Amino acid sequence: MKEPSVAEKQAGVVLHEKSWTDKEIAREAYNFLKEQDAVRFPVDTYELAKNQKFKLKWRDFSSVDPNIVGMILVDDRGKQYRKNGLSDRRIIALSDTLSEAEERFIVGHELGHYYLHGRGRGETLYAFSDKEPLDLSNPEEYQAERFAMDLLLPEGAMRTAVRLYKERWSDRGTYATLKEYICDMFFVPPDKAKQRLDELGLLA
Ligand SMILES: [Zn+2]
Repeated sequence: MKEPSVAEKQAGVVLHEKSWTDKEIAREAYNFLKEQDAVRFPVDTYELAKNQKFKLKWRDFSSVDPNIVGMILVDDRGKQYRKNGLSDRRIIALSDTLSEAEERFIVGHELGHYYLHGRGRGETLYAFSDKEPLDLSNPEEYQAERFAMDLLLPEGAMRTAVRLYKERWSDRGTYATLKEYICDMFFVPPDKAKQRLDELGLLA
């Protein structure tokens, strides 16, 4: 892999052989759901992670860096590499300060790293550490975040949900806002629901 120029770094050029377009990421996320027979909502990212042999752990990261929200650590090289304290070869660690909706989304993001940057590239040893706010100028962070969005809030399901909301719910007072309905139906944090509605032009 050649060292990128300063201009390339500033432009956020993807350095790996395989980069992912938004469209490809949406397709990969959907394939992942289909492969796991998990196309139902809300998507249970804990279950998806467990199916990929990940152990979920909750940690107090405040002494390391209070902005860390999650991490993924994978060592698929073989059991001879396991060391004391590192015996779990696939770990997703979550900050213990998050809401369940936030956790579920972050697990989706870590699965993005697994699917796009680990498994998809044949990597056997890698780790990503995620801080809030995410550095979306880093291509891998941007891609993992897109994967989470497409995994938890697929475009087709979002459009169907919005149609149902408009037909059935908006005049019944059950949900004050479309965003509230989307949060409830897909079990996602409000900022992610808003972002997805926004980018799909569904906020009208
Ligand atoms: Zn990340």
